[in-house]
Amino acid sequence: MPDGLSHPAMPSPARTLRSPEALAEAGLVPAAALPGLRAVSERYAISVTPAVAALIDRTDPADPIAAQYIPRAAELLVSAQELEDPTADHPHSPVKGVVHRYPDRALLKPLLACPVYCRFCFRREQVGPDGGLLSEAELDAALDYFARTPQLREAILTGGDPLMLSPRRLGTIVARLSAIPHIEIIRIHSRVPVADPARVTPALAEALDTEKALFLCVHANHAREFPPPARSALRLLARGGVALLGQSVLLRGVNDSEAALEDLFRAMLASRIKPYYLHQLDRAPGTARFEVPVAEGRRLLRALRGRLTGLAWPVYALDTPGGGGKAPIGPEFATPEGADWVVERPLDGAPYRHAAAEPSPEHSLRDTPQG
Ligand SMILES: *Cc1c(COP(=O)(O)O)cnc(C)c1O
Ligand code: SF4
Repeated sequence: MPDGLSHPAMPSPARTLRSPEALAEAGLVPAAALPGLRAVSERYAISVTPAVAALIDRTDPADPIAAQYIPRAAELLVSAQELEDPTADHPHSPVKGVVHRYPDRALLKPLLACPVYCRFCFRREQVGPDGGLLSEAELDAALDYFARTPQLREAILTGGDPLMLSPRRLGTIVARLSAIPHIEIIRIHSRVPVADPARVTPALAEALDTEKALFLCVHANHAREFPPPARSALRLLARGGVALLGQSVLLRGVNDSEAALEDLFRAMLASRIKPYYLHQLDRAPGTARFEVPVAEGRRLLRALRGRLTGLAWPVYALDTPGGGGKAPIGPEFATPEGADWVVERPLDGAPYRHAAAEPSPEHSLRDTPQG
């Protein structure tokens, strides 16, 4: 066992850990695991920032922060249900870097690098530190697609992680999208505020300043991902006028309990983040250890309804493979019975029958000629 494992208070590393060897030196994996992890690292990128390493409790073999980022040899075992591109981004790409699947909104992926590489990532076959950065000409072509597609009302920057761009480059993209009259909303999906909050500088906040509505959708899966540096970063962004949303993935060993989800959503709200999506895990290769069955996810959310502020309630969604879109998957509280609806009362679980409406006298008035 490397020395580090017996020293939980070991100072966290000053640099980002990018190899199995660096993880072992930092006491985050045992030396005996290195041969298996070298094979994993040839296929999937590894990155653990100092901010994330500082959150990991090295005395807890089931630490929910470590579970998200520390590779396991089992990642090379692929089950029959797993797909390389579970969200089918590829066939819906009209121009390099753009995924246009829904009528009113499209993704723009300016780069494929992330601050950290999540072991459950749905784009794990695409993301990584090298490659994926659009050239100037490719970025021009991608922005031109937004400009000449008037049904698009929203540009969603994702990747990779758009906040990995320099503030200058990000600012240019935000300004150029903002100059397109039919683009009303700019949305950015990012893990940077929690995974590498030091990147959130005044210059970055300045780059996000726009007349258009700008939503930042922060990916976080555990309450412990919101220590003071992350909260300060989020406060800086909010002060600049950015609206904050949260997205999480339901993950075995990370947030698969009522208490963990409650704490996560409360931590988000305390950082001004409105939980938006709780994603059912996409079946990317080698991610089976993270899957929580849908029935269990619905049960967990049902238990939280009524108990937690309504602000905490996310949409539990499954991205249907093959590019069919994200569907809400419950839990439902209403069941049809004939023309009536039987609604489960969240506070006591008792059924309430919402009878079909009688024809209203107003309707019959409206239907008469003099109405
Ligand atoms: C998830 C996704 C969106 C955004 O969907 P919302 O439900 O609006 O959050 C847009 N385009 C693609 C291709 C997506 O996968
Ligand atoms: S930050 Fe997002 S895109 Fe990057 S590895 Fe994690 S889940 Fe994948």
